[in-house]
Amino acid sequence: MSFERRQTKQIHVGKVAVGGGAPISVQSMTTTKTSDVEGTLQQIYALAAAGCDIVRCTCNEIEAAEGLAQIVPRSPVPIIADIHHQYKMALAALEAGVHGLRLNPGNIRKPEHIKAVAMEARDRNVPIRIGVNGGSLDPALYEKHGGLTAEAMVESALQEIAYFQEVDFDLIKISVKASNVPLMVEAYRQLSAVTNYPLHLGVTEAGPLPNGLIKATAGISTLLLEGIGDTIRYSLTADPVEEARAGRQLLESLGLRERKNVDLIACPSCGRAEIDVIEVANRAMRAFEDKKIPLQIAVMGCVVNGPGEAREADLGIAAGNKRGHLFVKGRNVAVVPESEMVEALVDWATFIHEHGAEAAIARVDTALAEREAAKDRNALLEEKGDDANHSNEKIVEIRKTISGN
Ligand code: SF4
Repeated sequence: MSFERRQTKQIHVGKVAVGGGAPISVQSMTTTKTSDVEGTLQQIYALAAAGCDIVRCTCNEIEAAEGLAQIVPRSPVPIIADIHHQYKMALAALEAGVHGLRLNPGNIRKPEHIKAVAMEARDRNVPIRIGVNGGSLDPALYEKHGGLTAEAMVESALQEIAYFQEVDFDLIKISVKASNVPLMVEAYRQLSAVTNYPLHLGVTEAGPLPNGLIKATAGISTLLLEGIGDTIRYSLTADPVEEARAGRQLLESLGLRERKNVDLIACPSCGRAEIDVIEVANRAMRAFEDKKIPLQIAVMGCVVNGPGEAREADLGIAAGNKRGHLFVKGRNVAVVPESEMVEALVDWATFIHEHGAEAAIARVDTALAEREAAKDRNALLEEKGDDANHSNEKIVEIRKTISGN
């Protein structure tokens, strides 16, 4: 299943296409001083490894622009310079060779400054994001609209577009971010109805984990599901690598980007669980963290329901009678000691990734594994019955207590 996406004009941020049907890209921003070239590059490499396609660095002082001149040629991904108050920093960043600029129309307001930057970007074929931010909206628009509204943010973006058009510059993408999710959603909806420039989605100042993650996901995915959005950024108060991971995971789970990493599913655990599902699932997450294995892998707490509930997974393991029962595409393939469950998952996942599920199934005696699984399943059912939590027994006891018998 896929979503219909709105057609937008395509631009290029360095080698990354944005809009016009290009894969939705993930962005993040460094938290180092841009003048710290080695520290910034380290963070950029970590972001790229976590799935980030484009990285933004602040360019707030001359030392930052000089840092960019060294960072850009060594970066594995395109670099965008973030500009707030000084238009001259935008010119310096262009001179440093950045692949894109972000201008905040609320902070650079003189038309002649905006046009000077756009002309220079036009001559260098460098795109600019018009980054409207609810928190720094032009006070005149704030007053005109009686506060921070979707209409005010959209008008701010359109004003900036008009300046750019005056100098024949159209390598534009736009964002209208706010920290209030319904407001941000409405602003992007309105914007997408009046322009076909590519849109950069984000909930600004979403905050620390996990709240920030929830807020940003609520706003960004609502719009993506409506076909709106060409590039995204999670603005979290956390290590930026978390932003890149979150962005990547969101796009993979919506089927908007090809899966690169493991999709780990796990049951929520219940009274039937034969292992500490949370602990095993977390260990499995860590074990697969750096492995680029694009499979869906299930960790299930019991053999009674686990294999059935996770039969669509590429690979899974369910606990039963101190053993881990491995299954591939719903078929039992092996039984391993409980203590080796995570290691077994990694081995099997690696094999499947390299040789395919059929080859993995073909190398073992599935009939034997199925018999062993049935044995453990029946033993558990016999021991615990359908009422694994002993709820019925407890209810009888409670009634006795109440009635005083
Ligand atoms: S798989 Fe088993 S342990 Fe996990 S939630 Fe389902 S019944 Fe409970």
